[in-house]
Amino acid sequence: MITIIEEYLKELKVNTIDTEDICLCSKKHVPDPRFLVTLDTGEGLVLLCPTAACNLAGLLREYELAGTTPQGSITKHYGKYIRGLATTIWRNKMTA
Ligand SMILES: [Zn+2]
Repeated sequence: MITIIEEYLKELKVNTIDTEDICLCSKKHVPDPRFLVTLDTGEGLVLLCPTAACNLAGLLREYELAGTTPQGSITKHYGKYIRGLATTIWRNKMTA
């Protein structure tokens, strides 16, 4: 059985960075990421910095362990943007 994490990692595509490409996890990245990855959430493509990509993988693992949306005591450790992406990915996996 393929896990949501494995699916997620398979979907990631590493891009060389274009000056107009941005990750929305934070208003300002320090330092600026040297690459972004592209992810299809099931509702469109997003660009993620390496930190956001890893955080999203971690939160998706929590979804998988819980079998549903994890408790607030877990999700509070993730930013609003990452929580929104995880919700979208999880919902699309559940309805796939
Ligand atoms: Zn970011």
